[in-house]
Parts: sequence; structure tokens; C-alpha cells
Amino acid sequence: METPQLHPDTRAIHAGRDDLEALGVHALPIDLSTTNPLPDIERGGDSYEAMALGGRPIDGGSLVYARLWNPTVGRFEEALADLEGASASVAFSSGMAAMTAVILAHTGTTGKRHIVAVRPLYGGTDHLLGSGLLGVETTFCEEAEVADAVRADTALVIVETPANPTLELVDITGVVARAGSVPVVVDNTFATPVLQNPIALGARMSLHSATKYLGGHGDVIAGVVACDEETAEALRRVRAVTGAILHPLGAYLLHRGLATLPIRMQRQQETARAVASWLADHPAVAEVFYPGAGGDPRGLIGRQMRGTGAMLAVRLRGGFEAASVLAASVSLFTHAVSLGGVDSLIQHPAALTHRPVPPEARPSADIVRLSIGLEHPGDLIADLEAGFAEVSDAAASDTFFSTAS
Ligand SMILES: *Cc1c(COP(=O)(O)O)cnc(C)c1O
Repeated sequence: METPQLHPDTRAIHAGRDDLEALGVHALPIDLSTTNPLPDIERGGDSYEAMALGGRPIDGGSLVYARLWNPTVGRFEEALADLEGASASVAFSSGMAAMTAVILAHTGTTGKRHIVAVRPLYGGTDHLLGSGLLGVETTFCEEAEVADAVRADTALVIVETPANPTLELVDITGVVARAGSVPVVVDNTFATPVLQNPIALGARMSLHSATKYLGGHGDVIAGVVACDEETAEALRRVRAVTGAILHPLGAYLLHRGLATLPIRMQRQQETARAVASWLADHPAVAEVFYPGAGGDPRGLIGRQMRGTGAMLAVRLRGGFEAASVLAASVSLFTHAVSLGGVDSLIQHPAALTHRPVPPEARPSADIVRLSIGLEHPGDLIADLEAGFAEVSDAAASDTFFSTAS
């Protein structure tokens, strides 16, 4: 662990690198071994048993097999835990693998099979919970209903804030209080540890789709859960047994990405604010969804989240047709799902990321979501302006369009 007094900007650069000097290297080493030499049968067996049960490698033992432990992944986990103010973190092959492991670790052997999930959630999470695949029963509810939804057999409360795609904020402290003794996992993907640390607010776990901001460059799929060491053991056990491990090359890219995370978030957030306020005044836009855009009566910005992030969504006056034309007309924004990278993206949640969500909880068809990258704000605004010009040309020439709003 890094010295806690250091500023998070500094920790993002130095965390998880404590062993490098002793190794005589400066850049993060990538260990690709799938198997490791065993000192002798006894210590090999003890090592295997410790790690298959979710423990850490034992002194004088072996790492045995890379499904159990990998040093490159371990360094990333140490760094992410540091940034989240957690004692541990466990990395997975994707955000959904991380969420699956969280659910299995809390339901599989605990005798509890009920989950409370606060909507809105990422479409994949909503789908996983509603699919019945994991044999759990889920009560979907609003933030204020959590206490009523919790039962004697409730294993877990799942929340996401800011929520995807409408950027609603959920009061983490409030949910933790309503959950009582039930552990709360917060999907912290949109905020990142730079803007929000759910564990300090009472959550048991902070989960990330590391595919998004942590990686930041659109080239690695991964997930990670920051938590206490006991929870980490349960999660590592699921990971070892089910095999949802992160490849060391992915861990290397994530760890490298962490170094620039604070500065990327800062700059992307500044640009998102500029784009959001430009959009709020645009005649084609009915509503801007951005943290604080509709006021912040509970004062969550500042108290819970140290900023507003770089994700936003807009409701278009021209409805679905306007969304289709806009997504097809912009050129700096790539029309693609995912988010949090250095380049800007635009996508239609109802048709894509939130397609598996039941109709009553699906975002409306006139909403598009923007992930703001590191391009210059003036260029992004000009790109959107050109897109909106095509939207109004299409509206003027298409009779179908005029009935859409
Ligand atoms: C993308 C995403 C996930 C799922 O992560 P993957 O890495 O795609 O498996 C979960 N939660 C949120 C908020 C996401 O944006």
C-alpha cells in the first residue's frame, strides 16, 4: 500500500509498484506464466489449497497455476484497492464476470437467494438479475423502497450511481442505512475512484467495469471489485473455481491506464460540462441528463461524488428518428456502445445497451447517450452542431418525421 497521505493523483501513478525496485525494473512487468514451479509436493499442495479457497499465496510456496494467482493482476488489484481506499480488490475477465462473482459469493453457499436491485441499472446487470441464470430471485425497486424490499433471505443490495443511462444519482449512505445488515455493492463504473469512493460511504463493495474509464482506451475488457479482505477471499474463491480470471496483458493495460485516470477524468468532465451546457440551450434538445442538471436537492454532488463526471444523455425533440439521424451524422463521436475512453462515443440505450431491460424499465426511445472523451470541446460541439443540422434537414424533408415528436 502507498502512503495514504499522498494525493490520489500521485497514488494513481505510484500505487501497486512497490516491488518494482527490488525486481530491478521500472515499467510494470508482465508475467505470462500459466504454471509455476513447485518447491516440493507439500508446499505446492498447501499453496494450491490456500489459493483455491480464495487466500493469498503462502510464504515460501508457489503460485501454482495462473487461474489461482498472477503477479501482474495482483499489482493492478493493489493499485485499484489503494485508489478506492479499500484493503483489497479482485479483478475479473469483465465487469459482468465481476458482478456474477459478487452474486455467487453472496448467494451460493450462504443459504440466501434473494437480491434487491435499485433501478435503473446497466442493461447487462438488469438482464443477468432477471434471467434466472444464477438461480437468484430479484426484487427491483427504487431507492426509497430498499428497506421494504429487504427480506430475511436477502443476500445483497445492488445499486449503480450515477445510473446508466439517465445519470440519476442514488444516495449511497441512504441505501446502506435502508439495507441494514445486508451488504451493498455499488457499481462505481461511471464515477470511478477519482470522483467517488462507495466504501467510505458504507458500501461493502465498489464494482467497476474496468473496460470503461479504468482502462480508458477502449482496448481491454475487464472488471474489478474493491472490498475488505474477507469479501476478497470469497470473490477470489469464485474466480479460482469458475475461471473468470483477468489476463495479465489486460491487467497491465489497466494498471498503466490508472496512472492517467485522475487527469483524464478531470479533463473529460470539464469538456462534458461545456457540452452539457451547450446542449441545454439547443432547440433540438428537450432535456439534458447530467448529474446536477435537474438540481441536486440532496446535495450529493460534493458530499458523495466529487464532481459530475463525463457521461451525459439527451432527450431529443425529434424522438427516435432524430436519434437515428444524429448517431449516423456525427463523425468525431463514434456511433458505438461502451464508454469512458479517450475518444467520444454516442449510442442509443433503448436499442442497444438497455435492450434486454424489460419495457417498463427501458429508457425511452428519444434518448441518446454521449461519452465525452479527450477531444477539444469546440470540435465536439461543432460535430454535434453539424449532426443536428442533418437532423433538422431530415425533419424538413421527411413527413414520417413530423409525426415523431
Ligand atoms: C459496461 C458496464 C458493465 C459491464 O461491464 P463489462 O466489462 O462490459 O462486462 C457494468 N456496469 C456498467 C455501469 C457498465 O457501463
